[in-house]
Amino acid sequence: MRIAIDIDSTLHHYWDVLSDAARRRFGIELPYEEQFDWGITRLKPKQLEVCIAETHSPAVILKGRPYPGAVETVQRWHEQGHFIHITTHRESDCHEATAAWLNQIGLPFDELYCSFDKVARCTEIDIDVLIDDSPTNIERAIEAGIVVATLRHPWNTDVCDVEDVVAAEDWPELERELAPVLDGARRG
Ligand SMILES: [Mg+2]
Repeated sequence: MRIAIDIDSTLHHYWDVLSDAARRRFGIELPYEEQFDWGITRLKPKQLEVCIAETHSPAVILKGRPYPGAVETVQRWHEQGHFIHITTHRESDCHEATAAWLNQIGLPFDELYCSFDKVARCTEIDIDVLIDDSPTNIERAIEAGIVVATLRHPWNTDVCDVEDVVAAEDWPELERELAPVLDGARRG
């Protein structure tokens, strides 16, 4: 199967990195538990831009700590012959640092895509399963006929409740829940 995997809030806990930047730069707290939608209204758009740019600087990218089990799961999928497309909402000039981070944590991938049109690219390269926490991407991918999975976060609880999404608390659960989908493809 062809699997697309997001990075921020999917492979590592991005929220702490972002809220740390917001606190340091602007003295604004972004409590994870209260982030119930995709909008970050506590920050002005320009402030958010500055914070995101900081979190996507090479030094910060390289410090990312993967969620427990994430790397091992993707290693298993890769060994089983699944195509691994890493897709991230990052500027294209983040490509080098992001690739270096993936190599550093030992996460195998066939393609890395840093861009702002994830689902369009998934459709273009016939992705079967997308793992992404963004409610917008979840909805677009479902419309495109892609199987969607995500880690549960406060901002995607609503969409996970109403849409057909494989939603898991952590990577071990995600691997278990996706096993029938991936096995089915092998047998079929
Ligand atoms: Mg994400």
